[in-house]
Amino acid sequence: MNLHEYQGKQILNSFGVEIQRGIVAQTADEAVEAAKKLTEDTGTGWHVIKAQVHAGGRGKGGGVKLAKNLDEVKELAGQIIGMNLITPQTSAEGKKVHQVLVAEDVYYPGDSEPEEYYMSVLLNRATGKNMIMYSTEGGMDIETVAEETPHLIFTEEIDPATGLLPFQARRIAFNLGLSGTAFKGMVKFVNALYTAYVKSDSSLFEINPVLKTSDDKVIAVDAKVTLDGNALYRHKDYLAMRDKREENPVEVEAGEVGLNYVDLDGNVGCMVNGAGLAMATMDLIKQAGGEPANFLDVGGTADAERVETAFNLILKDPNVKAILVNIFGGIVRCDRVAQGIVDAYKNMGTINVPIIVRLQGTNADIAKELIDNSGLDVQSAIQFQEAADKVQAVLA
Ligand code: GDP
Ligand code: MN
Repeated sequence: MNLHEYQGKQILNSFGVEIQRGIVAQTADEAVEAAKKLTEDTGTGWHVIKAQVHAGGRGKGGGVKLAKNLDEVKELAGQIIGMNLITPQTSAEGKKVHQVLVAEDVYYPGDSEPEEYYMSVLLNRATGKNMIMYSTEGGMDIETVAEETPHLIFTEEIDPATGLLPFQARRIAFNLGLSGTAFKGMVKFVNALYTAYVKSDSSLFEINPVLKTSDDKVIAVDAKVTLDGNALYRHKDYLAMRDKREENPVEVEAGEVGLNYVDLDGNVGCMVNGAGLAMATMDLIKQAGGEPANFLDVGGTADAERVETAFNLILKDPNVKAILVNIFGGIVRCDRVAQGIVDAYKNMGTINVPIIVRLQGTNADIAKELIDNSGLDVQSAIQFQEAADKVQAVLA
């Protein structure tokens, strides 16, 4: 589950990570109130207004603006709230901004120049260890840094059995070229960040930039946090942070009825039971010259109601030109699934795309007969290749 920047910072701060402080606002007036409150607390007077959407690169898209007084806070917040923010990480249509984070300006002048670093914590699946990736080149696209100056990206692997060791945190601060107060601040920052990552059951923390302020404080200016969805049962407070407005509406609907649905760009809708078979089916569709329009695992109980729900979800996608149902009847008998498909089809009235159904397993023959005798525009197949050929034929 992805979080907004302000929520990620809230979690970080609860584990002792220093952050750029801010208050979230839904309207321009609330933004002004937030700015007044921050000024009372810290006294800097300048603020950044930051669009809260689930996408990075907001600065480039005009979603992060500096306000030098309360009038500018009001004006900029008014502009950003309600805007359609297009960044390198959103689709071409962009994302609607519902709220902004009003944050204290932390790039104030002082004894030294503010410095931006990159830091993320994630799992290295190849080694089975957590790792901290970091770079002196903060504030910009890490992909660009990786491409142009890969020697400026460092990694520190952490054995989950021992946790982050003191020398590792010091090595990070050293490699970032820090000394004195900033060095100590970075060591504390890294320790708190790693603790937050582990204790919150996250799969990704990306802080870009981590800022060394002109008075040598080390703070998180941005926060991209992905929580492990399978661990959310242990974090009811994080579960409440879910913002469904940021998610694909069809995926949200599918989740509510217990279907595993992932929206994709192709033209062949798939209805499959089991994630492994769903992956194999997507390969098959590609081989037949189509592109899967979705991943959909209907799970173990493919009765008429579930099949109908699944059809409805698939048909919400206007790109779908054909539907391939590929179901293995193990515990659930194929004839029951076939009956479900026939009932669902009849119930739904007209479905304007061809449907190819491959049922294999217990009572597959009876199922095929049921479909073939239904009088509906549904083609049956028993072999995998046969199904692929039929998909190819209807796409041609
Ligand atoms: P992103 O563009 O979505 O990654 O959003 P960030 O939170 O990383 O902000 C983008 C950029 O805005 C940062 O790299 C900074 O250069 C700038 N920025 C963020 N906070 C401040 C601030 O307090 N003052 C100033 N002057 N610039 C800021
Ligand atoms: Mn950023």
